[in-house]
Amino acid sequence: MLRIQKYLIIATAFLVSVGIVGCGGGTTPPAGAKPAYCVSIEQLAAKLGLSVQKAGTPYYELTNANNRVLLFLNDSGRVYVNGRAVGSVGTVRQVGGSYYISELMVPKIRGYLATSYNPPGQTGPSPKIPGALTGLVVIDPGHGGRDPGATSYLGYYEKDINLNIGRKVASYLQQQGIKTVMTRNSDTFIELNDRADVANRVGADLFVAIHADSNGDRLHRGYTVYVSRSASWASKKTGQNIESSMANTGMSSKGMRNADYRVLVRTKCPAVLVECGYLSNPSEAALLYDSQFQDRIARAIADGIVRSL
Ligand SMILES: [Zn+2]
Repeated sequence: MLRIQKYLIIATAFLVSVGIVGCGGGTTPPAGAKPAYCVSIEQLAAKLGLSVQKAGTPYYELTNANNRVLLFLNDSGRVYVNGRAVGSVGTVRQVGGSYYISELMVPKIRGYLATSYNPPGQTGPSPKIPGALTGLVVIDPGHGGRDPGATSYLGYYEKDINLNIGRKVASYLQQQGIKTVMTRNSDTFIELNDRADVANRVGADLFVAIHADSNGDRLHRGYTVYVSRSASWASKKTGQNIESSMANTGMSSKGMRNADYRVLVRTKCPAVLVECGYLSNPSEAALLYDSQFQDRIARAIADGIVRSL
């Protein structure tokens, strides 16, 4: 908290010194008074019909049934609406226990709010085709327990996102009458060999590993589907189907690639590994954190699987 207050003081001093006048008009308000032309985050939420789910730093989370807004009050001060970066909060002032930002943020954020977050054609699972599908699919949420995987731009761990998406994929598949087995269904560590052995032991028809990517360059973005270098026709076909259905998420594709990951090589059944976007990219980190966007990814992966069985 001390570090953040220091940052805010420095940031405010900088903005005033370069002549940018935002919240508060560049003058110091009397102690305890509301800065001019500003709203507190709580007032902003009320004006937008949102409630404060999480308060404080590094970010506020404001939600209603159809929207999730994240406001970062430190670092770059980004604002995300439903996983989309929509700009910066601008000058932030702290008065008493509240953070104040420009009241102009109210109409700005309102312009991005959805009355219904689910786009047409993206609500719920695909129609069930009676009797058309059989199969046993092993879903492998990458990492877990003492192995967190990548750390996202927003600070959360890859292992948790993989598990959320993996569970959702399993749920969509079950709604289609497809049997699923999860290599892990909690935050536990599992050796790579053991993950593949689960598929071999239960006689799976398909193995799908769920991961999220990371790169030192924050600009890297998009999803990638991997199969092994000696992949079977069925693995490649499944990979292609998942790669094409993932386009429905709106993320860009880095295509299908070959890599001899242990879980792909050791499994006896067709096997695919999906990297569901870059946690190191601020925008995709926000998307991957969003439960409703995780649903979209899971539905896309499930659709690709369904077309492959
Ligand atoms: Zn991973």
